[in-house]
Amino acid sequence: MTPTTHATRVRHLRAEGAYHMLAKAQALERQGRDIIHLEVGEPDALTFDHIRQAGVEAIEAGKARYTPPAGMPELRQAIAATAARQRGIAVTPEMVVVSPGAKPNMFFPTLAVVEPGDEVLYPDPGFPTYAAMVGVAGGVPVPVPLREEKGFSFDLEAFDRLIGPRTKLIILNSPANPTGGVIPPADLEHIAEAAERHDCWILSDEIYARLVYRGERAPSIASLPGLSARTIIVDGFSKTYAMTGWRLGYGVMPEALARSVELLITHSVGSTAQFTQIAGIEALRGTQAPVDRLVESFRERRDRVVLGLNAIPGVHCQEPQGAFYAFPNIRALGMTSDALADRILEETGVALLPGTAFGQYGEGYLRLSYANSMEKLDLALERLDAFVRGL
Ligand code: PMP
Repeated sequence: MTPTTHATRVRHLRAEGAYHMLAKAQALERQGRDIIHLEVGEPDALTFDHIRQAGVEAIEAGKARYTPPAGMPELRQAIAATAARQRGIAVTPEMVVVSPGAKPNMFFPTLAVVEPGDEVLYPDPGFPTYAAMVGVAGGVPVPVPLREEKGFSFDLEAFDRLIGPRTKLIILNSPANPTGGVIPPADLEHIAEAAERHDCWILSDEIYARLVYRGERAPSIASLPGLSARTIIVDGFSKTYAMTGWRLGYGVMPEALARSVELLITHSVGSTAQFTQIAGIEALRGTQAPVDRLVESFRERRDRVVLGLNAIPGVHCQEPQGAFYAFPNIRALGMTSDALADRILEETGVALLPGTAFGQYGEGYLRLSYANSMEKLDLALERLDAFVRGL
């Protein structure tokens, strides 16, 4: 007989909404339905040629061994140099921890700094892993609502009300999943000042920082004077280099914290695949031209999708400033996000996510990933338009 009790720390965990919707959409596909997938959060591009090649050559050369838990020295060096240049801060290789995907570098630093009962502020709507990892750490997740009219940056009045002596960690995500919002410099300064006053850590999820439509990168809170001493920068290769399945990410944090995270890596996943890390070195050192092309192609698709959504009666979509998600407001349609997303899937075959897959303040919104072909996006917009006009 299987013992039936599970520890409290896992009982609150739920699947990510995207996987849930993907499963429903795939079930319909098995019945022969034609589904357009706008629910999944990954670039549709192949990993760039020179990076794939470096990975293949590494496998052929037998580079499939254990590496040091915090990553290969050459990769940590390349990451330190890149992170320092991009953010205008000092980064040593000792501050860098490599991980299989960016996620472990969110989860483990949270385990390393949050004591049971500590409060953690995070964006809502926001990436579901934030609340999940805080819960596992025994912390108290404190969602901070975003303001649509501020390009989905924090509602700073709510933030000021919610931060306090029990706040241990503030999670930021810019550009954000699911909104595509970029936190403006003035808001970063406000948040930084509050973090210093309350002596909090900041976890800055910058996985989409390179995918922005104005400037080279989204600004990082770690670039503000003194802030890198309390900031865990999370970044990686999944989105920028179309490498989701390779599983390669990293954290940049003060050295002492990096040693704790390194130990958590040692005793959990052990290390990151060696050939994946070698492909990552090539990604950082090689040409960045394909990244620029990827951003340009996302910009064209963003423009088309925002225009198309705003032409649908009762739908209003802010122009996202980064990532590859649109987050239209659908309140005027008079249905919950959940009910609407389900009906859209069943009646039009367009798979997208309800805003509530990202927290309570996501009610009234849908999330569409526009990492799909222009043809599919046009077809999806046509179907959505016809569906809404028929309501
Ligand atoms: N942060 C955010 C905001 C994301 O959207 C994702 C991927 N969906 C991740 C982190 C995880 O990245 P990785 O696949 O590298 O673990």
